[in-house]
Parts: sequence; C-alpha cells; structure tokens
Amino acid sequence: MFKKTFGCCRFIYNRMLSDKKAAYEKDGKLPRITPARYKKEYEWLKEVDSLALANVQLHLEKAYQRFFDSSANRYPRYKSKHDAGQSYTTNVVNGNIRIEGNRIRLPKVGRVKIRLHRKAPEEWKLKSVTVRMEASGEYYASLLYEEISPEESMYGTLSPESENQAFQGKDRRDIQILGIDYAMHGLAVFSDGTRADYPGYYRKGQEKLAREQRRLSHCRKGSRNYEKQRMKVAKWHRKVRNQRKDFQHKLSRKIVDRYDAVAVEDIDMKGMSRSLHFGKSVQDNGYGMFRDMLGYKLERQGKKLIKVNRFYPSSKRCSCCGAVKKELRLDERVYICACGNRMDRDVNAAVNIREEGRRLLSA
Ligand SMILES: [Zn+2]
Repeated sequence: MFKKTFGCCRFIYNRMLSDKKAAYEKDGKLPRITPARYKKEYEWLKEVDSLALANVQLHLEKAYQRFFDSSANRYPRYKSKHDAGQSYTTNVVNGNIRIEGNRIRLPKVGRVKIRLHRKAPEEWKLKSVTVRMEASGEYYASLLYEEISPEESMYGTLSPESENQAFQGKDRRDIQILGIDYAMHGLAVFSDGTRADYPGYYRKGQEKLAREQRRLSHCRKGSRNYEKQRMKVAKWHRKVRNQRKDFQHKLSRKIVDRYDAVAVEDIDMKGMSRSLHFGKSVQDNGYGMFRDMLGYKLERQGKKLIKVNRFYPSSKRCSCCGAVKKELRLDERVYICACGNRMDRDVNAAVNIREEGRRLLSA
C-alpha cells in the first residue's frame, strides 16, 4: 500500500504538472487543478489515501511559487520512479491517525508495526505524517506535532522580549563566549584550546562506506549483485550520516548549555568545497551542519550565534597584542609573535574569533 501510494502521488504530480504546463502554453494562465479531476478516469486513485493526493497538489503549487519567487529556482520537474527516497504526506483528520503502543494507524493502510524513536508528550497534537522509503528499502514515518501549550514546552517559544533573556542582568564582560575556528581535518578548534574531532567509529564507518562504494563500481550496472551492493552502500551512507548527526547534536548541546554565545566565521561551506583546494573533505566533515545546529539550539534558549566576517584576519592576528602578520604560511602550525606569544595556530584564530564576536555583540 505504501508503494502504491507513492506511485499514485507521483502519477498525480506528473499529470498535474503536464496539464498545468499545457494550459499555460495554450492561454498563458496557470489553472488550479485538484486531484479530483483524475479520479473518474483513473478509478484506482480512490484506493489510496486521498489526503496524500491533496498534499501533492499543495506541494506542486509550492514548487511553482518558489519558481515564480526567484528565477534561481528551477521549474518544477517530473518525478521519477527511480528518484532516491519515495514519500507521501498525510494529515490528521478527526483522529484518523494514531499511535497505539508500538503501532501506527494510517488511513487506507491500517495498523503498522513501528519502532517508536521518541514518545511525544500527551498534550502535543499530531498534525501530519510523512511516510518515506529510503534508498536502502527501509520505511520511516516522520510525525509532525503541534505544541498546545508553548509556554510549558521544553525550550519555550521566543517572544521578542525574551530574546535577550540570556544576556539580561549580566555584565557584558561576564558573558561566556566560545570562539570556533573551522578545521578542515577533524571538525573545529575552540578558543578554550580544545579540538573537536569525530570519534574513531565514525572514521571506520567512512572507510567501510568507501570500500563498499568501490565494490559497487566493479559491479555490472543493473545486475543482481549491483542491486544488492547498491543497498549496502545506501545503508552505510545512512549509518555514517546518522553517526555524524548524533555526534554533532551531542557536541552542540554541550556547547549551548555551557556558553551564552558562540562566535563563528561566516564562511560559505558550499563555495569552499567547490574551490579547487579543498575538494570533498569540506563537505564530508559537515561543519556547515554543525554551525546550523549551534544556531538554532542557541536561538531556542535566547542565546546568540555571532557570525564574524570571513575577511576578518583571524589567523594572521596575534591574539595577545593584536599585531597582524603580513604573511602566515599554511604549514606554520604555531603562531609566534614578537610580543612573546606562542600559540597553536588554530587556537590563536579561535581566540581572535571569540574576541571579534565579543566586540560585535557589544557594538
Ligand atoms: Zn603578539
């Protein structure tokens, strides 16, 4: 039934898209089309969750909206059976979707056994469910809840008055700020002199993934072995991704609990990984995602992520006396200054980022 629903959603999406396109080409207007139009002709559409189909319409309309909002966005494209990850979203209406112990009840599907990752508090209200099949062939359901009493929630909702909560009643000098310097190898270097690096099991997972990928490249495309190996690669991909996420969640949580603000460099990770020098390693270490996590976790607590301009000379500047070197070679791992300062190059940069953050915060 899940596969059938994915198929119907894809069918409806592609039909609506081609009908919209045709109508637009004919008389320059974009008609509003609902799934109901197709149900007469294609009876089998009635066999799947109708709200899933209704969401397809919204989804397509949003895709058009994005396209019209900015020319940087692509024209909506047809969906293919071979797209990685198939999914559909359905909404809760009159309690038609429920979690019952270790089962979820879904429209037209019935009760399905699940592994519940986290139990939602009683007072939360289930709004919608997205069912998704990963490339590895595993199924996931993402549950979207609404908090009924936001003031009692774990993080609270941020009202404009509470935004500076974390800073109120504190002398500016007492504000605990952590400066973070991006590290290409590993993850980051902190102004307190410590370094964050991924644990050994993560590296092992990466190696394993690379090995399985190599194996896949030797399989004949379309063969049975190829399919089997493709699944294996997808599984390792997911495992490594989850390990990275997990590590970053824990680390960012620790930092956010400990500090009032975090200063980072405003570097463009995508641009960096595109540039010739760094290649794939930048993307792989997931620094951009880590920074995003810090950002929203801080914000939820009324704390701040301060972005320091990427052209600020954090590496070349002495964090003791403020002198700025004309040149600093990449292989100079220790920052040595005429004032007597001798410091790990990256830590020196992290301290500079922290101090620039402090300045920006009080500016
Ligand atoms: Zn100095």
